[in-house]
Amino acid sequence: MRKQFAIIGMGRFGSSVAKTLSQLGFEVLAIDQNEETVQEVSAYVTHAVQADSTDEEALRALGIRNFDVVVVAIGEDIQASILTTLILKELGIATTVVKAVNDLHGKVLKKIGADKIVYPERDMGQRVAHHLISSNIIDYIELSPDYSIVEMRASSQMIGKSLRQLDVRAKYGCNVIAIKQKEQMIIPPSAEESLTSDDILVLVGKNSNLQTFEINYA
Ligand code: ADP
Repeated sequence: MRKQFAIIGMGRFGSSVAKTLSQLGFEVLAIDQNEETVQEVSAYVTHAVQADSTDEEALRALGIRNFDVVVVAIGEDIQASILTTLILKELGIATTVVKAVNDLHGKVLKKIGADKIVYPERDMGQRVAHHLISSNIIDYIELSPDYSIVEMRASSQMIGKSLRQLDVRAKYGCNVIAIKQKEQMIIPPSAEESLTSDDILVLVGKNSNLQTFEINYA
């Protein structure tokens, strides 16, 4: 059985999650309190229904308990986001993924048992900032508040040098965990092989160390 998803709140974030899951072939139930919004999303999800997610009976009637994952994508109305999450946890939903608009909202969600809390604006802001530091940065994934994974194109100063020569671990305290070369991934990467302009380095480390590395090799 493939996972079934319900997404509550079809704003910019929720509708993007719903659309992507549908395109990937998953069944998606989209819920929004606004009838017009429901009409718009009904074109690309399995089911779209109008309901107020702070109404426990309405959620029960939709059979929300049958869903493996419920995403709460209500941003602006923090009260509705919190109430909805509380109801879902009380109904016994195993996995709730909830969008938080700020740290305080996130803290409350954690206290009431949200299983995963996402901060789309904050995360995207960080990604954009990393792209601004260096056009070589392809992706940036936060592992914890202090540690991240960075995907970075080999910059001109790296080309022709080996990982041993770059001495990333000793000089910058970060580890190169993989090198992507066209279609293939080299894990673990060889310390001796020279880097080429097509290579993409995947580094893990403390944010401050990664940033020093990014700036030095921008
Ligand atoms: P974004 O920032 O991702 O665009 P918004 O907070 O602007 O998110 O949009 C949230 C969506 O959630 C809106 O379409 C709104 O109608 C819907 N929504 C808000 N409260 C409820 C609720 N109690 N029940 C169902 N849908 C809701």
